[in-house]
Amino acid sequence: MKITGIRTFLMQVDAPNLKGWASDGSFGTRAGSKGLTGTRNWLFVKVYTDAGITGIGECSGWPRVIETAVNDLANVLVGEDPTHIEHLWQKMMTAIMGHGMTGTVGGGAMTGIDMALWDIKGKALNTPVWNLLGGKLRNQIRIYAHANTPEVAKGLVAQGITALKCGGVSSPVAKVAAIRDAIGPDIDLMIDMHGPPWMTPGDAVSLARALEPYHLTWIEDPIAPENLAGYQRLRNSTNIPLAAGERMATIWGLRELIEQELVDVAQPDTGRAGGITQMKKIAAMAEAHHIMMAPHSGSLGPVAEYAALHLMAAIPNALMLERIENDWPGRARTIIPHPIQHNGFLTVPDAPGLGCDIDEAFVAEYPSECNVSNPGIAGSGSYADGTDAEHVYVQTRLKRARYFTA
Ligand SMILES: [Mg+2]
Repeated sequence: MKITGIRTFLMQVDAPNLKGWASDGSFGTRAGSKGLTGTRNWLFVKVYTDAGITGIGECSGWPRVIETAVNDLANVLVGEDPTHIEHLWQKMMTAIMGHGMTGTVGGGAMTGIDMALWDIKGKALNTPVWNLLGGKLRNQIRIYAHANTPEVAKGLVAQGITALKCGGVSSPVAKVAAIRDAIGPDIDLMIDMHGPPWMTPGDAVSLARALEPYHLTWIEDPIAPENLAGYQRLRNSTNIPLAAGERMATIWGLRELIEQELVDVAQPDTGRAGGITQMKKIAAMAEAHHIMMAPHSGSLGPVAEYAALHLMAAIPNALMLERIENDWPGRARTIIPHPIQHNGFLTVPDAPGLGCDIDEAFVAEYPSECNVSNPGIAGSGSYADGTDAEHVYVQTRLKRARYFTA
């Protein structure tokens, strides 16, 4: 079998239901302000073969830029045997090395192609990808949803969701306290503190200590991802479990986080960490340090979610998969078939390969317009409270007596 071609499918995607994505309304929709539409694109990749088998993959990590990278990589892949996945991954990594260290853009390009190669291999052998990864440990994958208010949280719990994550931009301690009070002790709760503006390490210590009484499953991205010394300081100052890794790619990108045991939960993004090939290795590195895997999936499309389900089915240290309830309605129309969710779990697919495809005609109805985040707007809630709307990368939290208390 030989690769005959690679095609990309790029689409503009609406923000999820605002109650699920952000409580402050700062992300907008396609119908809204142009400046707010650019936060979310999905990029799908199809790899074609002379055997008539086609593989599907998905790339995150700046999809509009990655589309060009994927088309460049096609030049070194056409004519190759798609079943030699590790060889082709190494060939792609070598091909892009001249551009510098591989971050999530190069990682995203390799991811979509790698995912499609696993899909092809599964179809060729008439077996699901989880079987190629060592077989199934579980038939369903626990998911967690997003909630920023007690009302949304209670609604999700009523639907069977057993784990929730809130965003920590405004009043994080008060928000966690209110949601914990609403959902009780039996639902798992997390908070994502990602910037910008990122917290300083000292502020993250203050916050982590203030959050300790609420028994969070993790505090996510408490400081900027490149500050590993800051993670060590945080580690030494609090017992709250830490999670990070969604902005890193490949085994080398997550190596220090895992080897220095700076986190309890590793969160590589299934769309940009380097593909199923890398995710399986990252999971094994984490397993050796008793670190759990909760792949980042919040902004991803539905093909990467399928890949995550196969991975999570086959690794022992799978914790939970991120999933946005009430996502853009077009999500269900983009993917065939839509994954089955029941009582806070997604069913592991059993069809050969990844077991899914995209509706190409539907994707074509939503051409990409823009793909960068609009910085927060003063008054929208993005910078209130505790930060100023200066559009800086790291910022000390202000009004601390209020910010760090319930
Ligand atoms: Mg996050």
